[in-house]
Amino acid sequence: MTISEKVLEIYHDNYICPHCLGRMFSLYATNTTNFERGNSILLTLTMQLHENYLSNNEKNSDTVNYLRLLAEKAKFIPAIKVLEKEGLPFVNEGSKPPCYLCNDIFSDLTKYASEATKRLKNLEYESFLVGTDIDGKIINNEDEFKVKFKILGSESFKSHFNREVGKLLSTCINKSTDFANPDITIIFSLSFDSFSINLVNRSLFIFGRYNKLIRGIPQTHWDCRTCKGVGCEICNYTGKQHQTSVEELIAPEFIKASKSTGVKFHGAGREDIDVKMLGKGRPFILELQNPMIRTLNLGNLEKRVNRITRKRVEIHDLEFSNKNQVISIKNNAENTKKIYKAIVQSENKITRSQFNEFIILLKDHLVGKKISQRTPERVSHRRADKVRQKYIYEIDGSYLKSNLFEFTIKTQGGTYIKELINGDNGRTTNSFAELFGSQLICKELDVLHIEI
Ligand SMILES: [Zn+2]
Ligand SMILES: [Zn+2]
Repeated sequence: MTISEKVLEIYHDNYICPHCLGRMFSLYATNTTNFERGNSILLTLTMQLHENYLSNNEKNSDTVNYLRLLAEKAKFIPAIKVLEKEGLPFVNEGSKPPCYLCNDIFSDLTKYASEATKRLKNLEYESFLVGTDIDGKIINNEDEFKVKFKILGSESFKSHFNREVGKLLSTCINKSTDFANPDITIIFSLSFDSFSINLVNRSLFIFGRYNKLIRGIPQTHWDCRTCKGVGCEICNYTGKQHQTSVEELIAPEFIKASKSTGVKFHGAGREDIDVKMLGKGRPFILELQNPMIRTLNLGNLEKRVNRITRKRVEIHDLEFSNKNQVISIKNNAENTKKIYKAIVQSENKITRSQFNEFIILLKDHLVGKKISQRTPERVSHRRADKVRQKYIYEIDGSYLKSNLFEFTIKTQGGTYIKELINGDNGRTTNSFAELFGSQLICKELDVLHIEI
């Protein structure tokens, strides 16, 4: 069946608008709009029929009936004009019925674009994408239609709508479409007689490094263990286990500046509450959710945060980041090398030369080797119980007192240092305590450097 024959069959049964007619045959003749294609099909068909009529001049032929069909059912103006010009009678009653496939959605797309423009008014963004969630009725209706008329070369309702509204919107808001990573995705929920708009606002990611200059604060906010965050007497109705955290000290200024609704703090690993983070700092990424502002002055933010959090937490090296970098700092935690400083107390007193022998023993048994660490008891409530192999790169130490020593330890990321020192009742082996022969306790721990 030719396109012309199909079109005549379609209009015999239903009225569809030129946008939808063009969409049904969108595989043929590309680089045009569906609307133009639909009109061209009708115009070409009218021309063929007119030519046929002129060469045969039969007033009651199929040719004339088809011209009447295009005038009466398709309400196609050029066909109406041909019939009038040739003095052929036809019925011209009533206005155009609504399109069987789109209920005239495609005849009034500016409505969708202008509503979206209103919704985007107070947002700062560079790129957008239109998406559609289409009512099942529209899709089923169109599928049945295609089966009935054996239409194979059509475009989907969805991509037609997304593209055309996207074009209109792009002119209204003067921003460009980004298919891969749009700042804003505008999702139309569409049915035959109503629609609503949902905006998906991509998070803003900011990379930085932080130093934790005091002990006693966790990296991120912890819910109170008693009330699970609801608020109780024990937590003074804050819902928090600790008064503040690195996250809570850093994030508020960013939330304020970007007018975000929430934040996620992604750290490249974490140190214990009682461990300082010194040196060049620990990489982190702030994920600001639903930001209304995206052009932040990171230099100013850094200064402001450091002024407010002074002597507790400091941030530096800020730059704009992305979701992939979050994944990579999470995945790379195991591949990093970390240098720690540990102050260690021993049960037994030893002399300086005994200490020097101990250092030699440590280097022989640990440096350049792997230790095996079963998940420490103190974290077993939140981490899977398993044995991890961790590599020790360097150990050095100095004698402070007969029962107090300072060690510098360079290990693979993810090593539990306190347990490397105290042996965790045999769960970590080899350990300092095991080689020392009696109890050792890590009194103070600082992270000096994280090598990525
Ligand atoms: Zn239509
Ligand atoms: Zn509580």
